[in-house]
Amino acid sequence: MECKKIKTVHGSIETPALLPVSAASYGIWDLWIEKKFPAPWDLAQGTVLSLYHILQYNKKDEIREKGIHRVLKTKKPVVIDSGGFQFMKKNVELEEEFVLRYQEESGCDIGITFDYPILSDLSPGEKKKRIEKSIYNSNLALKLRNNRKMLLYSAVHGHNAVDIKNYLESLDSGFDGYAVGSLVPKKRDYRTLISVVSAARNEKSLHVFGITGFPALFALSYMGVKTFDSWTYVVAAAFKEYIDPGTLKRIKLRKVKKLPECDCFICRDYGLNDFLEGTSEAEILLSLHNLNVFLKEMKYIREKIEDNELESYVLKKGEKNASIKKAFLIAKEYI
Ligand SMILES: [Zn+2]
Repeated sequence: MECKKIKTVHGSIETPALLPVSAASYGIWDLWIEKKFPAPWDLAQGTVLSLYHILQYNKKDEIREKGIHRVLKTKKPVVIDSGGFQFMKKNVELEEEFVLRYQEESGCDIGITFDYPILSDLSPGEKKKRIEKSIYNSNLALKLRNNRKMLLYSAVHGHNAVDIKNYLESLDSGFDGYAVGSLVPKKRDYRTLISVVSAARNEKSLHVFGITGFPALFALSYMGVKTFDSWTYVVAAAFKEYIDPGTLKRIKLRKVKKLPECDCFICRDYGLNDFLEGTSEAEILLSLHNLNVFLKEMKYIREKIEDNELESYVLKKGEKNASIKKAFLIAKEYI
């Protein structure tokens, strides 16, 4: 298995990569957009934004007119997801043509089609209907696309290998990649997660939505998944949780007296008491530490893949974290 790159107008993404989700419309993001702190999209190789968050943001027209890169003040790749998952929760649908044009005009590097994620408790009829609508949108986007520089990924949904295979067969060819969703409720059901992702593997780039626990990150990277999106770093920070760089588990800051060692640039200057303050700044500092742990691990994963040592590296990590070992051994069965 070799390390590959995704080439975009704003440079290459070395894979596997974790792209932090930037929510734009929430308070702390403004401090990042104003560059008061190092921004997640500059620390990582790029970022993912959801159209759901963008459309609530006061800069939504500016993004369309001037481009997302000007607004974020970044030269790195930007992915704009349709936000299908968040719109589902609000019972809102967008037209695929609107989504595609917004993505193209904002100058994002990768656009993902408007999808209708499926939940486990849906009736078979409802599930089928939602899958058909997602497939329809994907194929429509292929026909309507104007900007060939923007990579177009089709969202893909299913809770088992057969559904995923059928879904992929219903898609026209011409997508630059595929983004597998509807897996968040399965994120700790490693066998289902891994069998679904295994069924989605093909020669195009594969993105997996919303799966960012380290056990899954290691296992899915081993399986060849190219990109992940995550806002665990900022969600954990909102709950005052610090990711332990050694065990990769979350620590509740209010329950500890001392933090484990971390050599990241945040922990060089800040510590437990700074993270515990009830301010946006504290939340940002803690988020940045958490993101640093993710990015460092992803860098190790790429290096270990390159050196053909990923397996021994992950099994070593698995000695301190049983879930890491469990997920990895399942992934091995599929490779
Ligand atoms: Zn740190």
